[in-house]
Amino acid sequence: MKSIKTKLKVNNYQKTILAKHAGVSRHAYNWGLTTSIKEYQLTKKRPSAITLHKRLVDEVKSENPWYYEVSKCAPQQALRDLDRAFKNFLTVPKHGFPNFKKKGKKDSFYLEGSIKILKGNYIQLPRIGVVKTYEILPSVPVKNVRISKRAGEWYISFKYDDDAQANPSRKKRELIGVDVGINTLATCSDGTKFANVKAYKQAKKRLTRYQRRVNKKEPGSFNRAKAIKKLAKTHKKVADIRADALHKLTTWLAKNHSTIVIEDLNVSGMLKNHKLASAIADCGFYEFKRQLIYKCEWYGSELIIADRFYPSSQICSNCGHQQKMPLHERTYNCADCGFTADRDFNAAVNLENYVWE
Ligand SMILES: [Zn+2]
Repeated sequence: MKSIKTKLKVNNYQKTILAKHAGVSRHAYNWGLTTSIKEYQLTKKRPSAITLHKRLVDEVKSENPWYYEVSKCAPQQALRDLDRAFKNFLTVPKHGFPNFKKKGKKDSFYLEGSIKILKGNYIQLPRIGVVKTYEILPSVPVKNVRISKRAGEWYISFKYDDDAQANPSRKKRELIGVDVGINTLATCSDGTKFANVKAYKQAKKRLTRYQRRVNKKEPGSFNRAKAIKKLAKTHKKVADIRADALHKLTTWLAKNHSTIVIEDLNVSGMLKNHKLASAIADCGFYEFKRQLIYKCEWYGSELIIADRFYPSSQICSNCGHQQKMPLHERTYNCADCGFTADRDFNAAVNLENYVWE
């Protein structure tokens, strides 16, 4: 079994219905905890999850009509979670007594039933409808999911059987080398370039401006609150554009190539050199690599990470000669054979050739 956790792209309606589910889940959990404590004080016995659920339906649901707006799985699982928390408290050393859940802290709930993955990055959920995800999901049957909120964003997670995976895609090309760079997001050894998204650059500029505005406003003032809101909105926009660009790149690579060769970048070092002024630098080379690793698994392709000391930008991809290549040199001019190529493209071809080294 494998598991995946990924961010949801939700609209306002969906935000409300997700929050309602988390609210019911929390309410049921806390009600169950209070009821269990009272019951134990009276009878020295803790009610089972099933008993609690029967009482919840009889006593709580009718009094709180908002329970009917959400899937019945949410409160049901909350009581099972409570049962687990009690069992852990009793059997696992150092496990504390179950805590009451607080709103906005680890909000989550559980769903099961008719769940279906549609077109890769849409998932159909009972009571909630079709929700979009940022990442492509594996086309597998899903029995149940957990949805949780962290730092204002909703995430979905589930387990799936890896053998149920869809067939690997047909590949357009055997081998490709990828250079991630300054001016372009990525340059590939087949000549394909993924440009840095223009909208991304613009949004980044706005980010700096809005940050400056926040700093200038008086602390605690209405105008400052307004500026902060604007800044947060832009931050989100930057993150969204970046995520989109990266996902497009990694999906294209994994889907259409049997073997993909990338550099092993020491990102903190690169950032100091301002080498990676791109979306990859901003969200970390780690994220680029992480996406490639799991997408290669989905599409049945292989990822090769070149040795950290492989001088992909210094080698002539035509004759193998090696020369120093300072960062400002944007063109590779071979001192030996006279071959000329774009610096990033030359590096990408060398990465492709790496598998034969
Ligand atoms: Zn040469």
